[in-house]
Amino acid sequence: MLEVFRLVKQYKQFRAVDDLSFTISPGEIVGLLGPNGAGKTTALRCVSGILKPTEGAIRINGYDVVADQAQAKKGLAFVPEVPSLYELLTVDEHLRFVAMCFNTLDQYELLRDELLARYDLTEKKDMLVATLSKGMRQKLSVACALIHNANVLLFDEPMIGIDPAGARELKDELLRQRKNGAAILISTHLLDTAEKLCDRVIIVARGRKVAEGTLEQLQQLSSREGQSLEEVFLALTEDGHASPAISHL
Ligand code: ATP
Repeated sequence: MLEVFRLVKQYKQFRAVDDLSFTISPGEIVGLLGPNGAGKTTALRCVSGILKPTEGAIRINGYDVVADQAQAKKGLAFVPEVPSLYELLTVDEHLRFVAMCFNTLDQYELLRDELLARYDLTEKKDMLVATLSKGMRQKLSVACALIHNANVLLFDEPMIGIDPAGARELKDELLRQRKNGAAILISTHLLDTAEKLCDRVIIVARGRKVAEGTLEQLQQLSSREGQSLEEVFLALTEDGHASPAISHL
């Protein structure tokens, strides 16, 4: 379970995230949507413990990300927008290293072979990360997130750079993880994908939450009954800017 309470991230005079609250329960996929610069990556980086919130609190499976970071991070996996990998490890070494960090080496080999096959990396098992293509790096980053049985999964634009088969596999993976009870937050600009995959979406603009709900709820909120998430999103963000008149559900 992921709980975010009144999160603020301030850079000098600029508030990148402003009073953002939401909860994701086990077995839910929630989309975090917003125009460029809305604060999505900043929010995800705060949740993952990479950035320290200026105000507010974040709890992962009940553990505070700042006060109880080690416990909180045990259940968390974060796939960043740009994979952050160790260039001079092989694919296998990389996965093993992550499993070691999370103390899950006992189940490592079985899971590794499954993930390598699923993400088409079996042939690259003994290659250095430095030799991987962009999409392969993204796939390895996803595999690293899944190697330690986290139940709170954060994905920042995970489909970017992945080929169609990989993207399909990743969507199936998210559905599998949801079925297994993971709480999943996915930031994306791919509104078709979000519409198909997410149980609920949170729309942010200029750091603030503009709306939150199911597609049906947001259709009602924006008076766009029966229309696509794209139409609803554009109406709620008014060409990229939050309408102060719209409150969240
Ligand atoms: P995109 O869809 O373009 O990836 P985003 O919603 O992920 O955007 P963020 O990367 O979270 O947006 O950025 C939110 C805002 O915070 C932007 O205006 C950005 O310039 C600003 N910002 C991010 N990091 C810093 C920093 N270190 N110092 C100052 N401002 C920052």
